Amino acid sequence: LTVGVPRETFANERRVALTPQNVALLRKKGVAKIIVERGAGAQADFPDDAYEKAGATLVDAGGVWSAADIVLKVRGPNVAEIDRLKPGATVISFLQPAQNRDLVERLAARKVTAFAMDMIPRISRAQVFDALSSMANIAGYKAVLEASNNFGRFLTGQVTAAGKIPPCKVLVIGAGVAGLSAIATARRMGAIVRGFDTRAAAREQVQSLGAEFIEVEIQEDGSGTGGYAKEMSPEFIAAEMKLFTEQARDVDIIITTALIPGRPAPKLITKSMVEIMKPGSVIVDLAAEAGGNCEKTEPGKLVTYNDVKIIGYTDLPSRLPTQSSTLYSNNIVKFLLSMAPKEKSYGIDLSDEVVRGAIVVLNGDVLPAAPRPAPP
Ligand code: NAD
Repeated sequence: LTVGVPRETFANERRVALTPQNVALLRKKGVAKIIVERGAGAQADFPDDAYEKAGATLVDAGGVWSAADIVLKVRGPNVAEIDRLKPGATVISFLQPAQNRDLVERLAARKVTAFAMDMIPRISRAQVFDALSSMANIAGYKAVLEASNNFGRFLTGQVTAAGKIPPCKVLVIGAGVAGLSAIATARRMGAIVRGFDTRAAAREQVQSLGAEFIEVEIQEDGSGTGGYAKEMSPEFIAAEMKLFTEQARDVDIIITTALIPGRPAPKLITKSMVEIMKPGSVIVDLAAEAGGNCEKTEPGKLVTYNDVKIIGYTDLPSRLPTQSSTLYSNNIVKFLLSMAPKEKSYGIDLSDEVVRGAIVVLNGDVLPAAPRPAPP
């Protein structure tokens, strides 16, 4: 069995799917051969010789696709890459199959098997494979660093001989994995932090991180099917936007992470709210890829409007490439090893809820999406 790791070809993608440490782990677990494209880990600070030392064989550009039985990747393969896969090969990567139907059809036409890391069910047993949570954690952390880099003051308060400096005030909208990570990071940097979410369960999590949970008077719980967020009533959205208008006058940094699975991101920060923010304030919109929570967000860009910087980067995990590659590699390798039990043979067991949730194409057959289980 040959496991292969190509270099990522998507523009500005710095992550790699497998670290040298996990090459050594796979070798120890009995994987006969691991091939890595030269330079695959370079942008994540994993040099070629580290892969060689760990037991991988380096191959030239493009060499992985036609030789590997199992290809490990971060971004889904492009058409040219799919067309070079061995029939019967397996690809494991982020795929977003609902948004990438053409790619799924192409994988099926090539008679291969494909797993989407973004479709791994979010159940307790699968937390070790949950790459979406790993990346959301990094995105939340990096959002605070980007905000801080673009903010002209300290985040923490200080009393110095040259004057007293008040702590910066941060509002985090949406307290899922990314939002909680942002809250924890901003707290560690000494800011005053406020959090808001539509799910009642988020209150305790926000407070346990030392932040204030701000609320609206309307009683409506945002927990939808299986504990994920649902779309809120227009009355609730109006009430939360009134709350954010008051907050916009007071806070220095707003980090928005509000998402509803399968829906466009709710627009919660309007142009007029940006206009009442203090000069030098920063907004980081982690929902940029899904259309953005802020009206002035431009996906992928940093824009300045009315002296407020609005960051809509859609590649925050890739901007912390060593960390994100390490966590992604741990997720993908643990997932792969879960399908290669003691006898060291790799096999697909569709009665396994996690395997069934993540598999998109099996030997050329497109499988219907499995029902999403409830998060714990
Ligand atoms: P997400 O990225 O889909 O959304 C981010 C947050 O935005 C959510 O907390 C949501 O409630 C909030 N939101 C939606 N609309 C909003 C609005 N109008 N105003 C304010 N906030 C709004 O969420 P996620 O990080 O993927 O987490 C979703 C749920 O899944 C959580 O309950 C989380 O604990 C759970 N989860 C479980 C596991 C696991 O067990 N393996 C892993 C990850 C997440």
